[in-house]
Amino acid sequence: MQQWDVIIIGAGAAGLMCAIEAGKRGRRVLLLDNGKRVGRKILMSGGGRCNFTNIYAGPENFLSQNKHFCKSALSRYTQWDFIALVQKHAIAYHEKTLGQLFCDDSAKDIVDMLLSEAKAANVQIALQQTITGVSFADGRYTVTTAELSRQCHSLVVASGGLSLPNLGATAFGFQLAEQFGLKVLPLRAALVPLTWQPADKAVFEEISGVSLPVTAEVNGTVFPEDMLFTHRGLSGPAILQISSYWQPGDEVIVNMAPQTDVADFLATQQQAHPEQEVKTALAKLLPKRLVEKLLELKVFTNQPLKALNPKSIKQLADNLHAYVFKPNGTEGYRTAEVTIGGVDTDYLSSKTMEAKQQPGLYFIGEVVDVTGWLGGYNFQWAWASGWVAGQYC
Ligand SMILES: Cc1cc2nc3c(=O)[nH]c(=O)nc-3n(C[C@H](O)[C@H](O)[C@H](O)COP(=O)(O)OP(=O)(O)OC[C@H]3O[C@@H](n4cnc5c(N)ncnc54)[C@H](O)[C@@H]3O)c2cc1C
Repeated sequence: MQQWDVIIIGAGAAGLMCAIEAGKRGRRVLLLDNGKRVGRKILMSGGGRCNFTNIYAGPENFLSQNKHFCKSALSRYTQWDFIALVQKHAIAYHEKTLGQLFCDDSAKDIVDMLLSEAKAANVQIALQQTITGVSFADGRYTVTTAELSRQCHSLVVASGGLSLPNLGATAFGFQLAEQFGLKVLPLRAALVPLTWQPADKAVFEEISGVSLPVTAEVNGTVFPEDMLFTHRGLSGPAILQISSYWQPGDEVIVNMAPQTDVADFLATQQQAHPEQEVKTALAKLLPKRLVEKLLELKVFTNQPLKALNPKSIKQLADNLHAYVFKPNGTEGYRTAEVTIGGVDTDYLSSKTMEAKQQPGLYFIGEVVDVTGWLGGYNFQWAWASGWVAGQYC
């Protein structure tokens, strides 16, 4: 039977960070993963350039049943700490937009950085491990695979969420939490495109590829970003963000011209070009192919601007500032970036990430009910929660 101080299940962002920190403390650490390589989500994140953190990251950028839980870890290992690590390894990076930091070259730089830190901290890594059972007796955990059993004092679960099952995602962490009596809050795909109702699909799939800046709102939460029409539904950053707040049956209210007062715009156009058609005027504000679809949907009648009266101008402006989509659903875990829900934070210490009722068992990263917005926040949670657990496990 192999003996370890710490076994970490999941060699993703959180698991690697935790392993490095525990290793630095002189703990004998084994990092186990079911895949052929470590950090597979890091490698494909941010379009291959890894949006590794956000300079504005704070607790308000996270969803959780207990919105205070993430505060401790985020304040003890901040975005500036991770940026310092990136700088120490001379990795070139840039801010893309809204505080989002990306590698200049490749996400592989981040994985290589973590691997070199792990090596320096003497972390051992075992890949392609299929865990068949975990048990606890006499203060030690036994982790069994087909080949052998290993024991440890501290078991850290960093197995992530359910998104991208073809990349090794499993429900392992949630099942293990339940095995040890921790509650798992309902799971759903988030940061995910929304899909059309059949009637909308028939109209809008023809303009797939069209994108425009909007604000998207669900139940009072609003995100200003780009929205993209696709064959299957709506996507783009505004929609991915709002998907985390969307529940089946909810409407998404889209302001198609957030920067312009459409009523003022139409009144001005009417004065300047009374003979111009409404659709020509609208095409100065919105993509032409979208305007044609709105005409097809009778959102407006095409007529010379001079035929509009203040009431019809207001009606049209209201329609464009609050266009209502009623999605059919989401694209699900196949394309989602994250999983909402997970191990109930009531069962964990926010200081250590250890299970309150089960000494030596820790949960970190996405398996926990803390989910970030799009924009580097999810990695920041993985680094911060991994770092915190690494100080204690
Ligand atoms: C396409 C995509 C792009 C993304 N881009 C960004 C981005 O740019 N910025 C950002 O902040 N976030 C991004 N995210 C989200 C981010 O990748 C995750 O939130 C983050 O990786 C979570 O870290 P984690 O360590 O908790 O889990 P993961 O990184 O998912 O790691 C979990 C590890 O556990 C392993 N595992 C699972 N089950 C088992 C098991 N039974 N036995 C052994 N090992 C197991 C998995 O193979 C995996 O290696 C993206 C996600 C996706 C899917």
